[in-house]
Amino acid sequence: MLEFTDDQRAFQSEVARFTASEIEPHVREWEESKTYPLDLFPRLGALGWLGIGVPEELGGSGGGPIERSILFEELSKASAGVALGIYVNAVLGGGALGMVASDRLRDACLPGILSGDTIAAWAYAEPDSGADITRVRLSAKRDGDSYILNGSKIYITNGTIADVIMVVSRTSAEPGSLGGISVFVVDGDTPGLTRRSMDKLGMHPSELGELHFDDVVVPADRMVGDEDAGFRQCLPVLSQGRIYGATLALGIGRAALDAATAHVQERQQFGGPLVKQQAVRFNLADMTARLAAARTLVYGAAELLAEGMPYDTEASIAKLVASEAATWIAERALHLHGAQGYMMESPVQRYYRDCKIIEYGEGANEVQREMISEALVRGWRP
Ligand SMILES: Cc1cc2nc3c(=O)[nH]c(=O)nc-3n(C[C@H](O)[C@H](O)[C@H](O)COP(=O)(O)OP(=O)(O)OC[C@H]3O[C@@H](n4cnc5c(N)ncnc54)[C@H](O)[C@@H]3O)c2cc1C
Repeated sequence: MLEFTDDQRAFQSEVARFTASEIEPHVREWEESKTYPLDLFPRLGALGWLGIGVPEELGGSGGGPIERSILFEELSKASAGVALGIYVNAVLGGGALGMVASDRLRDACLPGILSGDTIAAWAYAEPDSGADITRVRLSAKRDGDSYILNGSKIYITNGTIADVIMVVSRTSAEPGSLGGISVFVVDGDTPGLTRRSMDKLGMHPSELGELHFDDVVVPADRMVGDEDAGFRQCLPVLSQGRIYGATLALGIGRAALDAATAHVQERQQFGGPLVKQQAVRFNLADMTARLAAARTLVYGAAELLAEGMPYDTEASIAKLVASEAATWIAERALHLHGAQGYMMESPVQRYYRDCKIIEYGEGANEVQREMISEALVRGWRP
């Protein structure tokens, strides 16, 4: 298992102190009002945390994939909904700009994302294009120095609050191919773009939006990467996103395990604390084992990324295992809490609701299984 350095442990404690004082006391209020604490973006930006893992020559603030993973795991332990909004902003929005966009476009948009003054969204899902990205239909047609966008996006995190939206668009070829898909940076207030909030099962503080593009004019120089190839060029952003998405699962798993461990030591039944029951202790042991395995895989993939080694398959495995472990652990935590965990004032019901999306976000786990088995057939071995 990866051992954190002293600096990494100190950073983990610093983030934990921040979440204990600035996030945890407010989570219930944000959950119930379903509102995102927008001031967190500039506050994390001022701490330099939105720029962790971004090369310093691009305005990043030092640290690499391990530190970035620590940040998202700790944020998610406090509130996965809060962590999700920051993750989409920094990892997906910022990643597409930092890794693929032209210098000019990157210099125009990335500094705001790293400072937290600009909120970003990443929009590929459509009513008819979910796990199968090749079905993207939102069309971008060239018109002089601009493109005209028409179509819809759905289930877009930060979609209603984003200042800039990376819009995955079809520039040529018929649906059914990864080619012909380009990415544009669209300002949230562009005429012709309408946005609507969506209600959802979990991740309550995070904003989720449905977006409609009706003759939205976007200057040609707002294209991320090359025409017809932008989405393909963004694939490493999504691959890295699987590692950080998996850290959100780790955070939920840790929170659920901590809650269950505390509860079974306090709750008295049958003449003693629940933890005296072997069946209860075995649940805790299995939860611990699955979480430990998932953490090893997630930080192992982050370490490969940090070392510049191939990491795609390891990222898929990490996301697959961590997301399913978190769902299992959260369900066991709920079970061990009995009726108490089922109550809305208990955070345990939240862990149970929040974790499910990680199984199909960032590429459904079935798609991860496809990619892992393809790698295996090509000769990849763990
Ligand atoms: C809270 C939340 C936040 C989100 N944020 C974003 C965002 O910021 N940006 C964005 O673009 N999208 C976002 N999404 C949407 C997300 O990208 C999609 O949910 C995801 O792409 C899966 O698409 P789908 O939900 O339409 O599922 P579908 O494609 O309809 O698939 C449904 C199920 O079918 C099964 N399945 C799919 N493909 C296969 C296969 N090849 N083999 C076997 N089984 C398969 C899986 O079990 C899958 O879960 C978000 C969704 C939610 C709920």
